[in-house]
Amino acid sequence: MAGIYIHIPFCKTRCIYCDFFSSAIKGEESQYVDALCREIRVQGEYLRSEPIETIYFGGGTPSQLKAAYFEKIFDSLSKSKFRLNPTEVTLEANPDDITQEYLDSIKNLPFNRISLGIQSFEDSELEFLNRRHHARSAINAVKQCQDSGFKNISIDLIYGIPHQSVEMWGKNLQQAIDLHVQHVSAYHLIYEEGTKLHKQLESGEITPVDEDLSIQMFDQMIELLCHHGFEHYEISNFAKPGYRSKHNSSYWNGTHYLGLGASAHSYNGHSRQWNIASIGQYIKSIQNNKIPAEIENITPQIAYNDYIITRMRTKEGLNTKELSGLFGEEIKDRCLESAQQHVRKGTVVLKGDVLKLTRQGIFISDSIMRDLLL
Ligand code: SF4
Repeated sequence: MAGIYIHIPFCKTRCIYCDFFSSAIKGEESQYVDALCREIRVQGEYLRSEPIETIYFGGGTPSQLKAAYFEKIFDSLSKSKFRLNPTEVTLEANPDDITQEYLDSIKNLPFNRISLGIQSFEDSELEFLNRRHHARSAINAVKQCQDSGFKNISIDLIYGIPHQSVEMWGKNLQQAIDLHVQHVSAYHLIYEEGTKLHKQLESGEITPVDEDLSIQMFDQMIELLCHHGFEHYEISNFAKPGYRSKHNSSYWNGTHYLGLGASAHSYNGHSRQWNIASIGQYIKSIQNNKIPAEIENITPQIAYNDYIITRMRTKEGLNTKELSGLFGEEIKDRCLESAQQHVRKGTVVLKGDVLKLTRQGIFISDSIMRDLLL
């Protein structure tokens, strides 16, 4: 099984915290989609005839594309060498783009899952993040998607926003619960270098929430969502039974995937590669039938580190028997030895053959994983 990711790098406006590759300049959509269709033809053998189980349109803001462009892309996919057998086809959308007219225009396309970039149900927080939608339009977007027949809806939320209180975060979570969405991805606000948000932090214009409050919000999220039937299946992801994101899960379980479009990443088990993060250069290169990608071969050390980073993110954790089967007994012993200090602190637990983060451990997962890497 394998997956295809298609990057749509267009946004109407830029959010202050965002470091994803996207552009707010209009006018390149048509040429970009032509380049994507050409890349689909050129990359037809990348996944070596593995059946494609998931297709994911991410961004940027894919819902900035008209239905006719998606028709072109799906048409190219159906004529390609890929063995398409998708059970999950996701469209990332901005709530502001969700109108009845837009939903009608895409209703005959293969999308069966929609991921809404809501981030908050509180207008003051949305304004701070420079999101272009309002709380009311976020709620309406979920309801309109439901009324249009989407039975698998995911929403993104952000917590740890300056001035956000535990009560405000609780209200956001309760709103998500009340809307009966199937999936929630929730991320702590990050101050990525190069973003406007980071500049505001550096200049002292804003103060981040303190760590104790962040931990309180994280605990509150797990308590509330799990109490309402969500499964906490990955550090930042919660799903109702049967609604885990198959596409994102493939990143965490080593499934092969092909990324199409500017800045998109691919992995085929032997190497990983990433396309150039420039719309103009991507289009130009593809027009010359050249994939503008840098490639890195997967060495045993990279394979081990990837294995640790991906498996430790999941509810299932890391199976030490599988680890020794893949990388040898010595490497497994080294990993368990490095994990001991965290087992003693209660941030990691070893039960039988499974090594997992505890709830305390999840919040400091980056530093724990660093200790386990080679
Ligand atoms: S809409 Fe998404 S991709 Fe675009 S700027 Fe905002 S966070 Fe970034």
